[in-house]
Amino acid sequence: MTALPGARPVRAARGTTLTAKSWATEAPLRMLQNNLDPDVAEDPDNLVVYGGTGRAARDWASFDAISRELTDLEQDETLLVQSGRPVGVLRTHEWAPRVLIANSNLVGDWATWPEFRRLEAMGLTMYGQMTAGSWIYIGSQGIVQGTYETFGAVATKLAASGRHQHSGGSLAGTLTVTAGLGGMGGAQPLAVTLNGGAVLCIEVDPHRARRRVETRYLDVVADSLDAGLELVLAAKKDRKALSVGVIGNAAEILPELLRRGVEVDIVTDQTSAHDPLWYLPTGVSLEDWHDYARAKPDEFTDRSRVSMAAHVEAMVGFADAGAEVFDYGNSIRGEAQLAGYERAFDFPGFVPAYIRPLFCEGKGPFRWAALSGDPADIHATDRAIIEMFPENEGLQRWMRLAPEKIAFQGLPARICWLGAGERHLAGLRFNEMVASGELSAPVVIGRDHLDSGSVASPYRETESMADGSDAIADWPLLNALVNTASGATWVSIHHGGGVGIGRSIHAGQVTVADGTELAAQKVERVLTNDPAMGVLRHVDAGYPEASAAAEKVGIQVPMAQS
Ligand code: NAD
Repeated sequence: MTALPGARPVRAARGTTLTAKSWATEAPLRMLQNNLDPDVAEDPDNLVVYGGTGRAARDWASFDAISRELTDLEQDETLLVQSGRPVGVLRTHEWAPRVLIANSNLVGDWATWPEFRRLEAMGLTMYGQMTAGSWIYIGSQGIVQGTYETFGAVATKLAASGRHQHSGGSLAGTLTVTAGLGGMGGAQPLAVTLNGGAVLCIEVDPHRARRRVETRYLDVVADSLDAGLELVLAAKKDRKALSVGVIGNAAEILPELLRRGVEVDIVTDQTSAHDPLWYLPTGVSLEDWHDYARAKPDEFTDRSRVSMAAHVEAMVGFADAGAEVFDYGNSIRGEAQLAGYERAFDFPGFVPAYIRPLFCEGKGPFRWAALSGDPADIHATDRAIIEMFPENEGLQRWMRLAPEKIAFQGLPARICWLGAGERHLAGLRFNEMVASGELSAPVVIGRDHLDSGSVASPYRETESMADGSDAIADWPLLNALVNTASGATWVSIHHGGGVGIGRSIHAGQVTVADGTELAAQKVERVLTNDPAMGVLRHVDAGYPEASAAAEKVGIQVPMAQS
């Protein structure tokens, strides 16, 4: 795509010299810049960070204005950002967030892709995805532990169901087939190989596939489907971990694999199906893709949905043949259903299938980034986490694997799944490490919007809730209010992330640990209350595991069933 006017390379400053007036404003400035670092963003010239068109700012003039305002912002001021454009600076107080962000929100009846695009073309909004428009994207690493845990849960399920008895709970001896090697989907091959399995990844864009090899997420790109299959089937037979990319359209290749009777154990998908203009239909070339989508969005949407229906039909075919099949949070089932494919929802989403028990404890992808830019700071925090949670085996395994296997993109960062009763301990420890000089500069602490208490997303985080409350969207709004009231440094409310316009409402927070006493108080409250919202959301929906978690960590529930 041609670059937006004003495009140029952006990279966050490193070190301890401030451009802004305090770390509370330097932090959002560096994280905004970091989201657009060419090593981090998928298409920085167009301000696209990941996930189809997930942007960090509306246009380059808005980017410049946000940067300018953050540079000048005082400790008792708050910058308001409306879908990537700074719209006001208001006097608040030092406990208030320095930035409040609302992205892509539309009134219910108007919440459709065509209406969103009409408004976007008029320059009135932008698509913020989840962490793109809330300035806490950290590259493919941001998703990799979640993907790793999900594939680990699949391995455990396969072993327990007797379908794969000799695996010892790993994916050794299994073949996974998936598609999409973009910003988030690119984590899949590494997540499978970290679990010991073989994986074939279908991707239409050779540049995307090569990028994953360069960043060590994918082992190799095969010259052809046959060559790729030979490699992964040999790895499956030898119980070796191997990830292989093949270039092609998933809507053609997956049905072809089914026709050939290839023995696939696990099937999922992370193409950008949430936005039909970002899923390439069969019969359209890579070169024509975006011009065609721009010129004839309705026709393109119809064609892309028909292809998604063929893709999902093949996924159902694999499920019928006994494979473990799941929707990986991109809404492909919903799109296939819109094309008239009736069995689209015959396989589950990954949250009800594997993740909900973790959500009941407020667990989810917790992350932090070193504003110094020094990898040593992250390695010091890695050691701190390993010391702090010795009893958590999964976490211990992850925290030992991650430094060895994960290449940093942009500012060094780390992710791990921690829940209620844990996150504030980590945050306070990091703040102490900044105060003592163990870390060379402050860190920012945030999380994904793929989260237990800050998302309403009936095709994903809140699919099949026990009480049927899938579409209730009060929770993310309460979450944003609670984080604002607790001292977060920036707070955001988004619509449409992950699964597309009309299908989700979600909120984010990022808090700076700058080593001060004030930061300690804010960090403790935010990192206690934010995951507590996840526990409360699931207590309210009737999950006994959530009630147990609330009791364990002392979260008050006014109408608890006793
Ligand atoms: P992205 O836009 O960076 O990448 C999507 C990739 O899919 C691109 O590389 C594109 O070339 C490829 N693709 C498109 N059509 C294809 C086709 N027909 N066949 C093969 N490849 C095709 O998006 P991303 O950041 O990787 O996110 C992927 C999807 O996953 C999005 O829908 C996103 O909302 C969702 N998502 C899921 C999670 C999760 O935890 N499950 C988290 C974040 C995002």
